[in-house]
Amino acid sequence: MTLATKYRPKSFSEVIGQDHAVVALRNIIKNQKIHNGYIFSGTRGIGKTSLARLFAKALNCHQYDLDNGDVCNNCPSCIDIQNNSHLDLIEIDAASNSKVEEMRELLDSVQFSPSNGKYKIYLIDEVHMLSKNAWNAMLKTLEEPPEHVVFLMATTESDKIPKTIISRCLQFNLKIVSDNSIAENIKNIFKKENISFDDGAIDLLVELAGGSIRDSITLADQAAFQCNNNITEAEMSKFHGLIDKSSVDKLLSDISENNVENIINELKRFYDLDTNYQILFERVLAELHKQIIQEMLKGNDPQDAHLYHQFFNSGFNESQISGRAREAFEISVLKCLSFRDSRKNSTEEIKDDSKKKSEDQSIEHSKKTKSKIPEKSEENIEIEESKQTNEEKKLDPKLWFETFESLDIVGPTRTHFANLEIKGSSDNKVIFIGEKMFAKRIKENNISELKKSLENAGFGNLDIEIEEIDKVIDTPSNNWKKKRKEQIEDFQKEIINSSLIKNLQENYDKTLNKEKLIIIDHEE
Ligand SMILES: [Zn+2]
Repeated sequence: MTLATKYRPKSFSEVIGQDHAVVALRNIIKNQKIHNGYIFSGTRGIGKTSLARLFAKALNCHQYDLDNGDVCNNCPSCIDIQNNSHLDLIEIDAASNSKVEEMRELLDSVQFSPSNGKYKIYLIDEVHMLSKNAWNAMLKTLEEPPEHVVFLMATTESDKIPKTIISRCLQFNLKIVSDNSIAENIKNIFKKENISFDDGAIDLLVELAGGSIRDSITLADQAAFQCNNNITEAEMSKFHGLIDKSSVDKLLSDISENNVENIINELKRFYDLDTNYQILFERVLAELHKQIIQEMLKGNDPQDAHLYHQFFNSGFNESQISGRAREAFEISVLKCLSFRDSRKNSTEEIKDDSKKKSEDQSIEHSKKTKSKIPEKSEENIEIEESKQTNEEKKLDPKLWFETFESLDIVGPTRTHFANLEIKGSSDNKVIFIGEKMFAKRIKENNISELKKSLENAGFGNLDIEIEEIDKVIDTPSNNWKKKRKEQIEDFQKEIINSSLIKNLQENYDKTLNKEKLIIIDHEE
């Protein structure tokens, strides 16, 4: 007998991780308020049919223990249900019985009294698979059910059950079983079976089970067999192609420290160990997810972790489609590395660039005042500068992009004007041009917000005019797109020319197919 069969709960007290449903079911039996329909919904492997079967047992038990709220497991009814031979418990898998004729045939038998139990119970698994006509047949029965009939329905997709049915049933939404409950349950089973284990092995089983109590026991059974009843994390890892958890932390810290040589060695080691890359992906993603939340709680901007998460996530999705998980994983790592380098360089370039351009226009200066944390030594000079520039500053149409970035406008005003170009400006007036779809959306309050912001930046009190035009080119929005495209192209070049690829070529004797290096820009 498999462990899963042996340790399927035989009484309410043995049910793991569904306390709220068990309490409710016990109350139903205690108060004898029996409905005709019950729905047990929730994800796979959390014990929906086990609980439904237990409830069926409780309904027909001859010696139900009201004090402890549990079945006796001794009476003929309990024993028959345990042996799958009870005449009044009819189990149907809707996945194979969704046809209306079969459902009708089944429902025809509803009128007959139970043969030896109190209730005639229909347990329908995967009930969401029933056809429309089958539902209608069932609805008729539920509208005027004989008192002795109970429908127990189990489903992973309760949203597919017609509302007319749901409204006539009691629904139990079963929860994902907590990692702790799964761990405790496996440990108990191992102790009863005289199987030895280490803590790491339990953690691994919990991780692999992903909230499914059924999977956890099946995997435990498998592990006991593979490890000859002495289950260790090391042995299990070998069978599942798992690297130890600290490797994920190490890989991520190597990425953020740009430790190319270490990374190459690690990737090679993963390959040599015949790693399960799907689980490796999942672990990296889980770790990054954790880091993002931690950084946000600390009030930091988790920009890097966010991007790494995007890279690994798209790699994971691609690997699901292509089936080439190792390739996808290594490329994800490369993307993270190259991103670090390219971003470091390009932000430096942008800084240099805008400094040069803005020196004449003192835009850099207005940026500094906006940031509100002037360094003390520069304070006096800045005040002098701003006195001078307050009168002198002119809005140069060619520098609209740089000027725009220094303005303190936000929200819709920012969005609208980012799509406009400056046609011309004079001492007291600036004329914008924009495509109709943007220009027509600009309201009086957007204009006054821009006016105020221009004034704050030292451009004086300017009148603003907006003209509609078919096509604009030199808008801040187009500039961003252009810059981003260039950065991504640079970044692609860097991947191809990186020492990492060269090392990969040397170590694995493989080259990177440039056509296949597709960079997905999620902002486009
Ligand atoms: Zn009994």
